[in-house]
Amino acid sequence: MENCIFCKIIGGEIPSPRLYEDDKMIVIRDIEPKAKLHYLCIPKTHFALLDEMDEEKSEILKYCFEKIAQIKDSLGLQDGYRIIINQGENGGQTVHHLHIHLLGGEVLGGF
Ligand code: AMP
Ligand code: ZN
Repeated sequence: MENCIFCKIIGGEIPSPRLYEDDKMIVIRDIEPKAKLHYLCIPKTHFALLDEMDEEKSEILKYCFEKIAQIKDSLGLQDGYRIIINQGENGGQTVHHLHIHLLGGEVLGGF
């Protein structure tokens, strides 16, 4: 997708070290961390909203959640973490390529 910053990162146009990568997703550090550890799990398929989910996209997200559970220790999230998916304007979504925030490395405040 043109002009999508995450597609550019996935395509290597914008350099960003990958902490994990396979054929379906990448994990990078968030450039403006909101916790001691703040990662973004970004599916390689471009879509913005859960509204767009179909069988293929739900398989991709299922895969991402399973993989996050498998690699969490290697990311330093073994003591727990928070997952956030911002959706749309009121949800504070600024990048319109669906992504999963992983926050941890410390005890997070309640909300
Ligand atoms: P959201 O507000 O949920 O759409 O999240 C977008 C996130 O992407 C924000 O937390 C930004 O700090 C992060 N971000 C934007 N550009 C980059 C980048 N080049 N590398 C890493 N994270 C980024
Ligand atoms: Zn994209």
